[in-house]
Amino acid sequence: MTHPFLDLAPLTAARFAAIERRVAALLATEQDVVITQGEALLPLEGCIRGAAHPGSTALNVVTGPYGQTFGNWLRDCGAHVVDLEVPFHTAVSAEDVDRALSEHPEIDFVSLVHAEAATGNTNPVAEIGEVVRRHGALFMLDAVASVGAEPLLPDAWGVDLCVIGAQKAMGGPAGVSAVSVSERAWARIAANPKAPRRSYLSLLDWKERWIDGGRKALPHAPAQLEMLALEACVERIEAAGLDTVTARHASAAAATRAGASALGGGLEPYVHEARDAAPVATTLRTPEGVDASELVAEALAADPALPLIAGGGALAKEMIRVNHYGADATPAAVRGSLVALGAALGATGREVDTAAALKAVSQTW
Ligand SMILES: *Cc1c(COP(=O)(O)O)cnc(C)c1O
Repeated sequence: MTHPFLDLAPLTAARFAAIERRVAALLATEQDVVITQGEALLPLEGCIRGAAHPGSTALNVVTGPYGQTFGNWLRDCGAHVVDLEVPFHTAVSAEDVDRALSEHPEIDFVSLVHAEAATGNTNPVAEIGEVVRRHGALFMLDAVASVGAEPLLPDAWGVDLCVIGAQKAMGGPAGVSAVSVSERAWARIAANPKAPRRSYLSLLDWKERWIDGGRKALPHAPAQLEMLALEACVERIEAAGLDTVTARHASAAAATRAGASALGGGLEPYVHEARDAAPVATTLRTPEGVDASELVAEALAADPALPLIAGGGALAKEMIRVNHYGADATPAAVRGSLVALGAALGATGREVDTAAALKAVSQTW
């Protein structure tokens, strides 16, 4: 019996290289793109373990939970870590980064998350990149939640290591990711005796065994399903137009923000300023006395297909995430989410105006 997932022909090196070229085009990068066959934490960890070592000093910008993870890896590598933390309801500014770099001239590596799906904020990477370049540090960006949802220009912004994943705005599976690597980053990793080698975490292995050989022979059998899905993601974005896809995410975020404010009932955008709010997902703060995970459970009971989830960890009590990305970057998903949240809030005795919320959505989209 044939099955769409089974008995697949091996993916050829030529096809693999072609998918890498399309990902590079999506990122408008001239740098080497390495596709990593695993969830995006694989290349993120590979970048940090490749670049960080005892004696190096890293500026780790923390605007959400992923920044905390990076700090742990950096310390694990023996690097000295300067953490620049900002409250999760805001974004870091280029001035904040500039100040930290001036106070610690020894910083030679900067890690930053572009957009945080978990907290709903986005950081001004273009301005930060300018500051980092002036200082001369290597610049790593986690763009998993921004790719496809907002402009992402690693070359123009001076990003040395730009990591993306397929599972957010690209609408793909979680098992495939990619990283663009600048010449500077390759040199830094090659000079690091602590960088992983002959390891699944090694970017250098891919350079030596795949890229330097002209992308003729793959180091191991590629994960066909994930590669085919990544190719399909990129193809779909190319067909719709990247600008159209990012505009859809921007509209979804603006409409959710406006709709939630109009809904009332004490629900508020979690990220205070609209300019700091990520297009990929909108986070909302529940009113005092309303548990976010209970509210989400109630809304999902009405419609399990809605892209709603409570915040992670300690945020589960107070934060709702509207994950309006990929196939859910639609007016229907935004409206449905607000209607369901409105009904659940109304059931707690709070006054909500669902009609006003829906009007705000149609006016904003
Ligand atoms: C989603 C996301 C990732 C991928 O991590 P998961 O926990 O597997 O979803 C990495 N970085 C950022 C900023 C993300 O939003």
